[in-house]
Amino acid sequence: MPLLEVEGLCVNYGHIEAIRDISFTVDQGEIVTLIGANGAGKTTTLKTISGLRAVRAGRIVFDGKDITKLAPEGRVKLGLSQSPEGRGCFPGMTVRENLDMGAYVRKDRKSKAYREDLDRVFTLFPRLQERVGQQAGTMSGGEQQMLAIGRALMARPKLVLLDEPSMGLAPKLIAQIFSIIDEIKAQGTTVLLVEQNAAQALKRADVAHILETGEIVKSGTGAELSGDGSVRAAYLGG
Ligand code: ATP
Repeated sequence: MPLLEVEGLCVNYGHIEAIRDISFTVDQGEIVTLIGANGAGKTTTLKTISGLRAVRAGRIVFDGKDITKLAPEGRVKLGLSQSPEGRGCFPGMTVRENLDMGAYVRKDRKSKAYREDLDRVFTLFPRLQERVGQQAGTMSGGEQQMLAIGRALMARPKLVLLDEPSMGLAPKLIAQIFSIIDEIKAQGTTVLLVEQNAAQALKRADVAHILETGEIVKSGTGAELSGDGSVRAAYLGG
């Protein structure tokens, strides 16, 4: 049974059909990536899976449960958490407070497991440990993106949704973010990754889907799509 099953998903903004009849699955332990140009519907797909947008049609099944109509916090409790696009942290709160917010659905904040998860985030992002008392809004864009990912991991998710984690970062930081994504997978968390950096995303994706104007137009393994002529021309600079 797949960990996530998206079936015939349609989402509108008013009369605009942002996504049309999208279906895909994510298996336990995989990195699955959605690639596409601006406006293709990638963010809308992730927001709908997290429960921030309502579906017009279709269904979402997570870990065997139909979550199509479940509120976002209910989805986090089941093990589905998202790191949003851009600097998705609480700017007026410290790094530590942001990480605690990520764990708000957990009841074990005084426990050893909670401390272990915090240590895990600090091992992935030593910079966050150095800045644990700093106000998030005063950190660099890259640091805030790391914090947003760290916060999503604090819910101890089975599946983490990452929306353009490399966006706007310098090349050295981009490499760092992708190696952290590899590490997240190695630690057993399943990843659904939305990226404009198609080369990096395809390199590590078990499965990839190309989104164009709200529809999946091509799917394959990361290696298959990296070698596909039309994908190379459109998304990998020829
Ligand atoms: P980007 O990489 O630019 O974030 P995307 O692939 O994530 O693009 P979406 O943000 O999902 O694309 O947008 C899909 C479509 O829905 C676009 O046509 C966009 O203009 C439209 N859209 C997105 N958000 C809204 C909104 N709040 N109101 C109206 N239309 C929207």
